[in-house]
Amino acid sequence: MSSLLSVKNMSINFDTPRGSLEAVRGVDIEIPAGTSVGVVGESGSGKTVMCRAAMGLLQGSNVKRSGTVIFDGHELTAMSKEEVRNLFGSGMAMIFQDPMTALNPVRRIGSQLSEGLRVRLGMSKADALVRSKELLELVRIPNAAAILKSFPYQLSGGMRQRVMIAIAIACNPKLLFADEPTTALDVTVQAQILQLLRELREDLKMSMVLVTHDLGVVAGNTDYVAVMYAGEIVEYAPTTKLFADMRMPYTEALLDSIPKIDHKSGTRLAMIAGRLPDPTDRGAGCSFAPRCKYAQEKCHKEHPELKKDPDGHLYRCWFPIGVAK
Ligand code: SF4
Repeated sequence: MSSLLSVKNMSINFDTPRGSLEAVRGVDIEIPAGTSVGVVGESGSGKTVMCRAAMGLLQGSNVKRSGTVIFDGHELTAMSKEEVRNLFGSGMAMIFQDPMTALNPVRRIGSQLSEGLRVRLGMSKADALVRSKELLELVRIPNAAAILKSFPYQLSGGMRQRVMIAIAIACNPKLLFADEPTTALDVTVQAQILQLLRELREDLKMSMVLVTHDLGVVAGNTDYVAVMYAGEIVEYAPTTKLFADMRMPYTEALLDSIPKIDHKSGTRLAMIAGRLPDPTDRGAGCSFAPRCKYAQEKCHKEHPELKKDPDGHLYRCWFPIGVAK
């Protein structure tokens, strides 16, 4: 399967008063065309920084980047800001965790939705409004004509996220980045938004990168999963393979920390003890060693290399689960 997005050896450092902060280190990831890839990890694991850098959105004099990003045959890392910006809309689009901060609170939904259509597709005001109504219907918003005249504060959180999705898909992007799109929503609405994204992805033949801290969200919604820890991808596999046969102790700990259907009421969820390592001082060994229940002496001294099973399953661990030692 050909890659729509190919990230090779990407590292991102931020200059801070405390020194150089290593947010992403040596990441390689491929997003095959027509697939959905989940990027999972705790807050601070580098997943959002990695995705923003892959979209060419990380700019600034304090940002140091290396590696290459190729999207749909274009090497983004060799393009100007203006050229990258031209790829947004029809090439790539993004939806965020909190639609209230992404939407302009003092502009009506119709105005915000039709703006991209006018600027990027050159539509007239009247045509853009007609298409905006169609887009609201596409994201299953009832009474679309009335919603076009509403302000964001008049809509529920779930409706606002549907509007953000409508804005993101307005120019038929090939790749949609969804950064924690359901975190701010209650559980029922979360399920509805994930179902909508699944249906739109199939209908519009879009690829998707779903960024989340919740391993439960990627199950059933992605084809592949990349697990990130301390700025690195530590495990990558087809989603069904990852859940059936995970290799990384960190992935296992993430899975243990989500509720299961067969949990008795009152069962306490396992927490991952400890915290992520200081990004200005990663240390020499495995970054997860201070929190890992399987850690041995070698783990504290030597950084594990990325290993690959014959079926392509990638992991970064000296003592992987399920592999004979
Ligand atoms: S390398 Fe060692 S510390 Fe790191 S995840 Fe594997 S077993 Fe745990």
